[in-house]
Amino acid sequence: MTYIHETITRLKSTSPAQSEFYQAVEEVLDSLQPLLESNEQYKRHAIIERIVEPERQIMFRVPWMDDENNVQVNKGYRIEFNSALGPYKGGLRFHPSVNASIVKFLGFEQIFKNALTGLPIGGGKGGANFNPKGKSDSEIMRFCQSFMNELYRHIGPTTDVPAGDIGVGAREIGYLFGQYKRLTGRYDGVLTGKSLLWGGSLVRKEATGYGCVYFAQNMLDDMGESLEGKTCLVSGAGNVAIYTIEKLQQLGAVPITCSDSSGTLHHPNGIDLATLKDLKEVRHQRLKAYLEVHSDAEFIPVSDYPEDGHAVWRIDGQLAFPCATQNELTAADAEVLAENGCLAVVEGANMPSTQSAVDVILDAKIYYGPGKAANAGGVATSQLEMAQNASMQRWSFEEVDDKLKTIMANVYTSVRDTALEFDAGNNLVLGANIAGFRKVADAMIEQGLV
Ligand code: NDP
Repeated sequence: MTYIHETITRLKSTSPAQSEFYQAVEEVLDSLQPLLESNEQYKRHAIIERIVEPERQIMFRVPWMDDENNVQVNKGYRIEFNSALGPYKGGLRFHPSVNASIVKFLGFEQIFKNALTGLPIGGGKGGANFNPKGKSDSEIMRFCQSFMNELYRHIGPTTDVPAGDIGVGAREIGYLFGQYKRLTGRYDGVLTGKSLLWGGSLVRKEATGYGCVYFAQNMLDDMGESLEGKTCLVSGAGNVAIYTIEKLQQLGAVPITCSDSSGTLHHPNGIDLATLKDLKEVRHQRLKAYLEVHSDAEFIPVSDYPEDGHAVWRIDGQLAFPCATQNELTAADAEVLAENGCLAVVEGANMPSTQSAVDVILDAKIYYGPGKAANAGGVATSQLEMAQNASMQRWSFEEVDDKLKTIMANVYTSVRDTALEFDAGNNLVLGANIAGFRKVADAMIEQGLV
């Protein structure tokens, strides 16, 4: 345990005030203990000291003009964390909460997630503390153009390939790509999540949600269970949540909730996906508007949430899919899930469960699919988009979906088998962290002290 303590103490002094980053590092290091004890070479090559330090951190000013001709200034980030396995790959998040700690925790998680896919991609992440809510289309465009005015010099199809994340969807990727093309004169695969009209891949939009459900399907198979007829609690109402709900429904499960930052929607008869997509993808409205179509649904505003957690996890359901944001499932929430007999928690979002919630989940023997494994389908399909761009090919929906299914089955198997190898039963956190770390660490050793 001392090396965990030493690492966190060092990070606290060299990278102060980054609590989410320390949380992510602590979780990984905690799982690595059995590996580090049995493999002295990781210590000899100072892998822990090196892997927690990003290769490069870029922070920049993003000035832009709003519709009233006022100058606005945001802070932009790109953390190029680790390139042992390939070009840096990871999304851009536009959300007011973005800061160095959030981007670093996401970038750190991304290293291991990308390794788990088995594809040649390193780990990175970026974004800005920009709030897209309530902004006009022209404001979004001006912001994206200004953001790219700095970012373009750091990215490239074989060096660093960003994608979307919270607040960055097809529209933002379009504006970012347009400005990159204008600045460089190059039409190349420097961003993923592009429109299907100009270089995007089929299934990329659906990939994180679909992949998360494929992961759950593999887990349930191992438990002798299936998705058929299971009531599911889903949080979030963005890209990951919507396509998690879609795939759950296609496979016979019954998602009964979703949420946004205004509250939680509970529809006991099952979420009406067409209405949800219309609200969120077309009309960009708050979830409460769903009640105008379905008066039998219930909306719980954030002001009515329990003090120690999130209303969505207090509803009775058999499977839980946190798909909104970090630390949205607390220990108290996990206790209620356990009392209600929840079978599995499968994370579509990044680090949605607090560390103490994970402890409760594992103690209660709820089967747990950590985000870095369960939501790897998004980045995996981004890499399939890169492969199609580089070879100037276009694969069909079925081809990409089949590859996604195979990748998620492989991610699950490698995580499960690694947990078994280290006598950790079905502790997939340990399995995911060791399986991902081992690939990256071995590559770092082979590439020397760089
Ligand atoms: P979106 O922006 O499409 O949706 C995010 C959803 O979560 C929205 O419903 C949003 O509500 C809600 N949300 C965000 N922040 C908060 C908050 N602080 N409190 C309450 N609700 C919140 O993002 P994605 O669906 O793309 O991403 C969701 C999660 O999945 C993130 O953790 C992301 O890192 C992770 N992820 C995404 C991938 C992808 O391919 N998109 C890949 C792998 C992981 P509101 O609109 O009201 O803000």
